[in-house]
Amino acid sequence: MGEPRFSSYIHGQWVAGAGDHADENPADLDAPVGHYGMLDAATTAQAVDAAADAQHAWGLSTPQRRAEALDAVGTEILARKDELGRLLAREEGKTLPEAIGEAARAGQIFKFFAGEALRIPGEKLASTRPGVEVEITREPVGTVGIIAPWNFPLAIPAWKIAPALAYGNTVVFKPAEIVPGCAWALAEILSRAGLPEGVFNLVLGGGRTVGQAMVEHPRLDALSFTGSVPTGRALLVQAAARALKVQLEMGGKNPLVVLADADMDIAVDCAVNGAYFSTGQRCTASSRLIVEAAVYDAFTERMRARLAALRVGDPLIQGVDIGPVASGQQLDTDLSYIQAGHDDGAELLAGGGRVDGAGNGHFLAPTLFAATPGDRIAREEIFGPVAALLRADDYGHALALANDTEFGLCAGICTTSLKHATHFKRHAQAGMVMVNLPTAGVDPHVPFGGRKASSYGPREQGRHAVEFYTTVKTAYTAA
Ligand code: NAD
Repeated sequence: MGEPRFSSYIHGQWVAGAGDHADENPADLDAPVGHYGMLDAATTAQAVDAAADAQHAWGLSTPQRRAEALDAVGTEILARKDELGRLLAREEGKTLPEAIGEAARAGQIFKFFAGEALRIPGEKLASTRPGVEVEITREPVGTVGIIAPWNFPLAIPAWKIAPALAYGNTVVFKPAEIVPGCAWALAEILSRAGLPEGVFNLVLGGGRTVGQAMVEHPRLDALSFTGSVPTGRALLVQAAARALKVQLEMGGKNPLVVLADADMDIAVDCAVNGAYFSTGQRCTASSRLIVEAAVYDAFTERMRARLAALRVGDPLIQGVDIGPVASGQQLDTDLSYIQAGHDDGAELLAGGGRVDGAGNGHFLAPTLFAATPGDRIAREEIFGPVAALLRADDYGHALALANDTEFGLCAGICTTSLKHATHFKRHAQAGMVMVNLPTAGVDPHVPFGGRKASSYGPREQGRHAVEFYTTVKTAYTAA
């Protein structure tokens, strides 16, 4: 033992929760990162009550006060990014440089929204009636529930918690079950930022207990969710039934188109990074590689060579390119899709199974299949280091294949043609488009989100976050 125990945080108090659940290190199953207790529904309800009780006063606090608290959080995260990145790498499995980068991004997001707290927009217009003035202001939406996935356990909570607090809301944050350590670390920093009791609360536990208790609580005013499509859709139905304001970021099956005129070095870099870095566990991962016929064979050979050279292993070891799959459950999903690839007749080009000798963890070789558009591996989100390669006759065919999906998060193209890049930016059915860049990898100060089955509700991040985290008031005054 001797590992830390991660607690929930309610109304300014640490709450142990029940049980002694191991927080697994997916690269070393013999050495858990820590232990944690889970809350029950009744204790979760207390957290929502605490947030609801604190909301009015926090909503009336000065922007300066909110800015200072968020700035302090951002400063501390940035100062401790190496240590937080190490915790993240051990708990979630992305490589140490990726994890440190994520920690830094979380810090930058808090800093960005510290500034936004001082820039809450409003308008004053002349009325259509004589002697009347009209003001349009933004007020906090209220008590916000935040439900997050495991794949970005610092950055995603940051890009929800920071705007929520900046605009005067109070927060109940539920992380995914397998990343309690990162959530606790973030809560610990927030607990020392001078926020009044109840303004920020952390609830550790299961989706069906803690998550449901949050969503069902009548004092919750809004829900920001990131996770899978099935969970998101179920929450949407519940939210609609009680008119809860809701924002959903869900899955992706993101295409990366490689045209014959592409710079092949750039195209292969984009494909390897987009499909396999962070173990392919990114909602924006390039899981469909759509390659024009004229360069299909050359691209395939270069991909095979690059994938064979990638080093899979403990994410803390320098030089490792790809860490473990984050959990045994996700590994089972990945392996079942590899089997589905075989069953559907796709041709295995690289990987295809677990990595021997990498240690006692969930290590999976980066896997590439030559697929056809109807194959399950080409249609369904896998969320692992498994990509489907599709052959396109020409640009028009490639665009049609790119858009032939229920998802619409991110779409990328590698080309040296301005005409095709411009056309693709206009016609790709996705919330984000990349030209000569991997589909994964976004800036923290601009809107993030998709369309079709990938997203629902207003965009996250950047100034667009104001749409979800505030409600508009129109005030008329007889002048
Ligand atoms: P998930 O849907 O299984 O879980 C997400 C969260 O929902 C977890 O905290 C979980 O405990 C909670 N939850 C589960 N059931 C619940 C219920 N009935 N009520 C309330 N809460 C419940 O997703 P995951 O496996 O943690 O994450 C992977 C998914 O997240 C992938 O589909 C990925 O594409 C998606 N994702 C999307 C984005 C984006 O911005 N679009 C970003 C990252 C990840």
